[in-house]
Amino acid sequence: MQHEYNIQVPPETAGNQEALKQFVSKHAEISLHEISHIRILKRSIDARQKAIKVNLRVLVFVQEDFKEQKPSLPNYRNVTGAEEVIIIGAGPAGLFAALRCIELGKKPIVLERGKDVRARRRDLKKLNIEHIVNEDSNYCFGEGGAGTYSDGKLYTRSKKRGDVNRILELFVAFGATDQILVEAHPHIGTNKLPGIIQEMTKTILDNGGEVLFESRVVDIEVRNNEVAGVALATGTKIPAKKLILATGHSARDIFELLHKKDILIEAKSFALGVRIEHPQVLIDKIQYNRKDRGEFLPPSAYSLVKQVEGRGVYSFCMCPGGIIAPCATSPGEIVTNGWSPSRRDQPTANSGIVVEVRPEDYKIFGNSPLAALNFQKQVEQKAWLEGGKTQTAPAQRMVDFSNGKLSADLPESSYKPGIASVELGSILPEFIYRTLQKGFQEFGKSMRGYYTNEAVVHATESRTSSPVRIPRDRETLEHVQIKGLYPCGEGAGYAGGIVSAAIDGEKCAEKAVGAMKN
Ligand code: FAD
Repeated sequence: MQHEYNIQVPPETAGNQEALKQFVSKHAEISLHEISHIRILKRSIDARQKAIKVNLRVLVFVQEDFKEQKPSLPNYRNVTGAEEVIIIGAGPAGLFAALRCIELGKKPIVLERGKDVRARRRDLKKLNIEHIVNEDSNYCFGEGGAGTYSDGKLYTRSKKRGDVNRILELFVAFGATDQILVEAHPHIGTNKLPGIIQEMTKTILDNGGEVLFESRVVDIEVRNNEVAGVALATGTKIPAKKLILATGHSARDIFELLHKKDILIEAKSFALGVRIEHPQVLIDKIQYNRKDRGEFLPPSAYSLVKQVEGRGVYSFCMCPGGIIAPCATSPGEIVTNGWSPSRRDQPTANSGIVVEVRPEDYKIFGNSPLAALNFQKQVEQKAWLEGGKTQTAPAQRMVDFSNGKLSADLPESSYKPGIASVELGSILPEFIYRTLQKGFQEFGKSMRGYYTNEAVVHATESRTSSPVRIPRDRETLEHVQIKGLYPCGEGAGYAGGIVSAAIDGEKCAEKAVGAMKN
């Protein structure tokens, strides 16, 4: 027999099978020796009470043996020689699109400007140590896209649980821990993601698909409003009838190409700000309301949102026990983001703190669909200039930032290329600067201790979502003007993270393959 219960237990009980059995035995009045196993279905932490509790949904096996069941891969077919779908970009959207094509019997050819995960790692080292930005191989570009060296948080605002679970189960089948199916806020970690991505690529290749690295697409050929092919920077031309465009939000050359070719794109609101770093012990103390978190609680996260003078300011992509990464995709700009290892065991907690940017804010760049992109670019370039024209990030202590005062010194930062003391008002647009100055003080009221000079503000956090939308038909998912072109994932404006990009990749593949049958 199996019974499901919702229980609340102390943190030390939550991860201990024997202690859990004893708890459930008492709670459900089942004799202890009859319980063969307790499987955790869902787990979340409730830190609102003085004595922190863990909420669990558990499946209790009574007088019945428990058999471990892990999600398995779908029945992929061998697609050698099948009709082709061309996919630009090997990020989560592109890879999940490719895998879905294989499931549906079509051959994906993935064109990726960057390198495979191993070669890419060498370029990340050069970026962190020598400040050299490779425009095709960096934290955003390469095998797995921006998702590979990311934090690997797998939560999404998508309302469709079925779609989300399918993606999480596929991640497990490709090697992620099955704990991501249980946690309220699942996370993989930068140390584990590359191996999982390599498994996905291998599966595509083993089943007759192709993944071509160092293959930057520089042109999309259109004939009679229909996709005809693509051209690579190497000069190679590849014919294409179905083209999934999943190039991410940092592929500015793709947005510029579409605009130049009169293929409709639109400027879109996004958010821009800074990345903040606190000592993790301080965040734990605030969130758990105790001196230290002890051995049973994970490093604490936080999520903050306020309205300041009618404008939203909020935390974005918070990484407990994490590192701030240099995420520029061109020389001459500073872009930050964050990652963490699976154990989240670094001494610092970082988060983007961003302010909403509306159409009226970027109208100084005219009515061009690239106006929001140019606004974003200008701030990133100013940060580079003020930071000393390297990947060194301009930074300021938090209270100094709010008081408009240059910091006399700075604590150590996890941002490897280094930080330089700069008054960030000289970089950020006035409305963003003002909103953040007040926003930090407001955050300090919700999380006492958050507003502190122990925290360091790094400029800039600018690649939160795409500043451009590539419009598509709601039903067919094809570009509104060009048949056979499927704008996909975060860059096209249809996703905001790994899971939603993967879901969108699958959807575009289904539509592209579905249209081939007709
Ligand atoms: P991308 O992942 O951006 O992939 C696009 C791919 O297209 C890239 O590989 C690029 O090289 C390729 N490409 C671009 N132009 C061309 C061209 N012309 N020719 C050929 N190929 C091209 N999201 C989360 O959900 N959770 C997190 O914890 C998280 N942490 C992050 C941490 C960091 C450091 C970064 C950078 C991002 C993080 N994100 C996180 C965001 C997440 O990675 C993206 O939302 C997601 O990867 C978007 O997927 P995508 O496939 O749409 O685009």
